[in-house]
Amino acid sequence: MSTSFRWVEQARSGRARAGHLHTAHGVVPTPTFMPVGTVGTVKAMTMDAVRSTGAGIVLGNTYHLMLRPGAERVRALGGLHRFMDWPGPILTDSGGFQVMSLGPLRKLDQDGVTFSSHIDGSKHRLTPERSTDIQHALDATITMCFDECPALPAAPEIIAQSMRMSMRWAARCREAFVQRPGYAQYGIIQGGTEPELRAESVRALTGIGFEGYAIGGLAVGEGQELMFSTLDATTPLIPWDSPRYLMGVGTPDDLLGSVERGVDMFDCVMPTRAGRTARAYTERGTLNLRNARHAVDSRPISPHCDCLACTRHSRAYLHHLFRANEILGPMLLTWHNLSYYQRLMRGIRAAIIEGTLEAHAAWLRAQWAMADWSPDEMPPPDIPPVP
Ligand SMILES: [Zn+2]
Repeated sequence: MSTSFRWVEQARSGRARAGHLHTAHGVVPTPTFMPVGTVGTVKAMTMDAVRSTGAGIVLGNTYHLMLRPGAERVRALGGLHRFMDWPGPILTDSGGFQVMSLGPLRKLDQDGVTFSSHIDGSKHRLTPERSTDIQHALDATITMCFDECPALPAAPEIIAQSMRMSMRWAARCREAFVQRPGYAQYGIIQGGTEPELRAESVRALTGIGFEGYAIGGLAVGEGQELMFSTLDATTPLIPWDSPRYLMGVGTPDDLLGSVERGVDMFDCVMPTRAGRTARAYTERGTLNLRNARHAVDSRPISPHCDCLACTRHSRAYLHHLFRANEILGPMLLTWHNLSYYQRLMRGIRAAIIEGTLEAHAAWLRAQWAMADWSPDEMPPPDIPPVP
C-alpha cells in the first residue's frame, strides 16, 4: 500500500505545531531534529545508536555523496537507505550550500555552478536538474531544491537577484522531480532578512507548489534576533498544512524559539560536531569535558539521559578519553549530544500536545541560564515542577 506524503496536525499552541510527517519510509513525529549524516554516516555513530536516540529522519549531503562514492554507485547498491542501513526517511540537501561555500573553487552562472572537487580537484557541474537527478538516484525521501544563498550581510539588490534566480531554479527543479507516493520535494524560501523578499519568495514557491517548504539562508551569521524576526515574517505565509524546515539550525535555544514560530524540522551539525570536540549539551547549558574539574567527577553528564555515555560512564571517564585522544570519547559524546537534542524535541512536542508550551519553554530557558549543578546539590528535575 502506498502512503501519500503529508503532514498531519496533532495539536497547536499559538504558532507552534505538533504533528506527524507521513512518508514512504515511515511516520515521523514533529517537531523533529534530523541528525546530519554527511557522507552516508552520522559521524562516530552506528545506525543502531542513531536509532536508539529516537531520531526519526536523517540528512544526507548530495555534494559529498556525488563526489564519493558517486550517486550512480549508491543507486546500484540499492539506494542510500540500504547503503547506510537507515530504512527510515532520509532528506538530502541539494549540494547548493556546500558548492557555494567553495569560494574560488566554483563558478556560478544563470544555469548552474561549475566547481572543483575538494577531494581531487576534478571538475563537476551542478544544475537544478542534475541536483534533482542525483537526489533521485540516492532515493531521497525528501529532495531539496537546488538554490543559491549569498553570504550575509549583503545589499538588498544582491539578495533580491539571488533569490529570484533561486526561484527560477526552483521551477526547473520541480520539472525534473519524479513524483512518487510518499516522496517529497521541498522549495527553499530565500530573501535574506528582508521581509518583502521573503514574502515574494514564498509566493513564487507556493505558486509552483511543493510538498514542503524550507527556510534557507538563515543561521549564516545574522544573529538570533534577526533570524527570529525573519521567521516571524515568513512562517505565517507558508500554507498551514505544509511541513516547514529551518535549514542548518541550531542551538537548543534556537530550536525552541523556532518551534514557537511554527517550524517543524531542523538539522544541524552542532550536536555531532560538539561531540567530537568534548563539548556536552546538558539541561544546564554546555560543558567542556576536557576541563580539569571533570577529572574526578564520578557523576554522569546528565542524570536524566538514557544514552550509553550517561547510563554506563562518568564525566571523569569521558574526560579521560578526550585527554587520551581515544576514539570512544567522540563516539560516546556524540551519542549523548544527539540523545539530548532528541529528548529536547520530545519534551517540546509533548508540551505542545499538553498545552503547556509556555511554561515548558520558560523552564527550559531558566535551566539553560543556570550554572552546572554541583556534586553536593540534588540534580535538577527533567520536567518542569507542577505549579
Ligand atoms: Zn547522555
